[in-house]
Amino acid sequence: MTPLAPGKTLGILGGGQLGRLIAEAAKSLGYRTAALDAAKDSPALQVVDVPVVGGVDDPEAAKRLAAASDLLTLEWELISPAALNAAASLKPLFPAPAVLAIIADRLTQKNFLKKNGFPQTEYGEAASANDLPYYPVIVKRRRHGYDGKGQARMNSAADAHNTDIFAASCVWEKLVSFNKEISVILARGRGGEIAVYPVAENLHRNGILHATRAPAEISPDVAARAEKIARSAAEALGHVGVMAVEMFLLPDGELLVNEIAPRVHNSGHYTLGGCATSQFEQHARAVCGLPLGSTAMKGPAVMVNLLGDLWTNGTPDWSALDGVQGLTLLQYGKASARPGRKMAHYTVVGAAAADEWRRADERLAALGRGPKRS
Ligand code: AMP
Repeated sequence: MTPLAPGKTLGILGGGQLGRLIAEAAKSLGYRTAALDAAKDSPALQVVDVPVVGGVDDPEAAKRLAAASDLLTLEWELISPAALNAAASLKPLFPAPAVLAIIADRLTQKNFLKKNGFPQTEYGEAASANDLPYYPVIVKRRRHGYDGKGQARMNSAADAHNTDIFAASCVWEKLVSFNKEISVILARGRGGEIAVYPVAENLHRNGILHATRAPAEISPDVAARAEKIARSAAEALGHVGVMAVEMFLLPDGELLVNEIAPRVHNSGHYTLGGCATSQFEQHARAVCGLPLGSTAMKGPAVMVNLLGDLWTNGTPDWSALDGVQGLTLLQYGKASARPGRKMAHYTVVGAAAADEWRRADERLAALGRGPKRS
C-alpha cells in the first residue's frame, strides 16, 4: 500500500485529547483530518477539518467517518467490534480490528501474553467472588476498565461479596509488590519497522497516571529487557501505529507486563517537546506509511497530569507554573472539569526536570488553590 499523500484525510475514531493531539500532528504533516465523537465540542472535534458527530460504537457513525476519510486510525481501543469492522470495510484502518479484539478484553489480552511467553502476574477468570483464589487480590472488569475504573482491590471474602464489580465478567490478578512502574512507547510501521522511545517511569494515584519521567531511573539491563518485551509484543500482535506496554519492575529486577495499550498513551506525552518526534506525529507517520521519525530525547523530561480535581476552587492558579525553565502547559479544551477527568498536563524538559519530579505535588497544591485574587 502506498503512503497516504499529503492533502488526503486521516480519520480518527474517538474525539478526546489523544485524538486531538494526533490530529494536530497529522495536520503538521500536511494531512486533512476528521474525527468521530458523540460530543461536538469534544477536544478533537474542535480542531479537525471534518468533525463527525456520532457514537464511536455506532457502526453507522463509523461509516460516516470512513466516508469522509481516506485512511482511518483510532485514539482508543474500547470501540465496539461492529463499529471497527464497519469502518474497516470501507477504508484501511490501522491498527487492525483483529489487534483490538485481543487487547480490548483483559482476559484475551492476558491469554495472548501467556501463549506468547510474556511474563505477567498470576491471573484467572472471575465471574463471581467464588472464583477468587486468595486475598488480597485485584479484580478488574474484562472490558471497559481504564484509569482505575472497573477495578477493585479485595482484601477479604467480605470485600468480594460486597461489591457490584461482578455485574460484568472480570479477571483476578495477584497483587504485585513492585519497585517501579515503567512503560515502553514504540511505533511499528506498516512494513514492520519499529522505533522505540526511551523507557518511561510512571507514578499512579488511585489507578490514574499522576506523573511520568523519562528516561526512567533504571539500569541499562532492565531498559534493554523492557524494550525487548515491548518490541516482541508489537510483533506478535502485528500492530501498526504507536503502542504502550506498561510493566512492573520487581525488587529482584524481574519485569512483568501489566497491560498493553494499542495506541498513543498518556505516559508518552513527555515525547511532545521531550523528543525529536512526538508519539502523536510518530503514530500518524506509522499509520500513513511514512518513514518513522527519530525518538531521540531533547533532554530529560517530566510530565504531570492535571485532573479535574484541581478546578474545585475555580480555574487553577496558572501563575504557579511561572518561571520554570522548559515548562509547557497543554490544555485539552474540555468545557467541564470533573474529579479524575484528565483536563491538561504540563511537561518540563531539560535541566529543571529532575527537580520537578520531586516538586510536582507542591506545584499541584499551588495550582489547586484557585485563581489569585488581587
Ligand atoms: P491498570 O488499569 O490495570 O493499568 O491498573 C492501574 C494501576 O493499578 C496500575 O498502574 C498499578 O498502579 C495498579 N495495579 C494494577 N494491577 C495491579 C497488580 N496486579 N498489582 C499491583 N498493582 C496493580
